Amino acid sequence: MVQIAFDNSYVRLPAQLYSRLAPTPVTDPSLITLNHSLANRLGLDAKAFETPEGIAILAGNAVPSGADPLAQTYGGHQFGNWSGRLGDGRAILLGEVVTPDGARFDIQLKGSGPTPYSRNGDGRAWLGPVLREYLVSEAMHALGVPTTRALAAVSTGERVQREEGYPGAVLTRVASSHIRVGTFQYMAATEDAEGLAALVEHTLARHYPDRQGPLGLLNGVIERQAALIAKWMGLGFVHGVMNTDNMTISGETIDYGPCAFIDTYQPMAVYSSIDHAERYAFARQPDVAMWNLAQLATSLLPMINDQKAAQAALDRFPGLFQSAWTDVFRCKIGLQTAQDGDVALIHDLLTKMAEGQADFTNTFRALGTQTARDQFLDPASFDAWQAIWAARLEAEGATLEDRIDDLRQANPAVIPRTHRIEQAIHAAVADDFAPFNRLLTALLSPYMLPHEQADLAKPPAEDEIVPRTFCGT
Ligand code: AMP
Ligand code: MG
Repeated sequence: MVQIAFDNSYVRLPAQLYSRLAPTPVTDPSLITLNHSLANRLGLDAKAFETPEGIAILAGNAVPSGADPLAQTYGGHQFGNWSGRLGDGRAILLGEVVTPDGARFDIQLKGSGPTPYSRNGDGRAWLGPVLREYLVSEAMHALGVPTTRALAAVSTGERVQREEGYPGAVLTRVASSHIRVGTFQYMAATEDAEGLAALVEHTLARHYPDRQGPLGLLNGVIERQAALIAKWMGLGFVHGVMNTDNMTISGETIDYGPCAFIDTYQPMAVYSSIDHAERYAFARQPDVAMWNLAQLATSLLPMINDQKAAQAALDRFPGLFQSAWTDVFRCKIGLQTAQDGDVALIHDLLTKMAEGQADFTNTFRALGTQTARDQFLDPASFDAWQAIWAARLEAEGATLEDRIDDLRQANPAVIPRTHRIEQAIHAAVADDFAPFNRLLTALLSPYMLPHEQADLAKPPAEDEIVPRTFCGT
């Protein structure tokens, strides 16, 4: 029997923050994959989810006892323009569970049918985006990046009409909450002071129990987002759709629509087919985060009541980000101490990587070995950098060899490359899940890639390059 000890706190918030409704059943659900380790983390019986009763829950065909399903209301700026009310148009929160160690998690179905916020959408997801989110979110977790997670993927036995008809699927997403910058924007836009205060209180208790008041909340989010974006930058991760409704208050990465990991390093890399103005280019992500946090500050201003204090909080972001970024990249080049000139040294490498069309992941992974220079069009340009780097290491009493293990811990061998994800999706649409499972297995231990899987670390061949990604709704 499936037993989930729900403890639902979001439904105690003011009613304008959600709409209660159940998922819409599907014709013929079948389990694609279940995340046993996450189920265990949540204190759930993984095996029970593999029974017909469990699969029915994961497909939205049965509502488990104790669930109080709802779609959340939120607003947001999309590509810099205020969109007004958005909300969960294809997702339903079943409820929250609290783990034995006291952590609270949302369990949400994504692709579970229309809601009052679906606008013109069908409330469904097709297999492609579901598998992409499963792979990338679990890879991010394995890479040590705060993120929403994937508990399960099921196919629905129904077709979803996009440019073509595709197999439908439902993802079970787990997050410490789904509260977004856009949730606060929505409450502020309704000018409901009591509702905003209740949301602040709920969010503080849930994510920042050591902080007080709206300014404490703002400072907390600023710190977590600075740390988060620095981690993205250290992995060559391009989120692709950093709208304010896609930025969490918890500091977890959310919404794996058009995201991509950079292959050949290019600071202004953009993959999303709809990001015409390149607003969400790789190198712009810290500035965009700052812009989004300014929207959060604006939403909280009626409660903070002190524009100077809010501005002072925001002004901390660039310094916090720069310091987190420097820590991330110091670690990536094996430094254990901080010295003047480190930032210049790191930028120098990145500049040479861009000029030399070096693969982002493989260059860092190869540091300290003979093959690093082979990543560059002009290997001699790397040799020059390496000499300075070696001298810098010597200044802290180390050689390249001394730091080889650290370098391997700091730089993954395998990340979810877009062409590999696309190949896995392509096969899955033809009912072959072997490439998906193989890729997933490799991504779960990104710092040690067995020989048999070395192909997964390779950049795409000319004819494998996927130049554009899609939101895939
Ligand atoms: P996203 O860009 O994926 O964050 O989505 C932006 C908004 O569009 C959110 O309110 C989503 O719930 C909604 N949305 C996206 N896809 C669909 C869909 N297939 N059906 C209904 N709503 C959708
Ligand atoms: Mg979204």
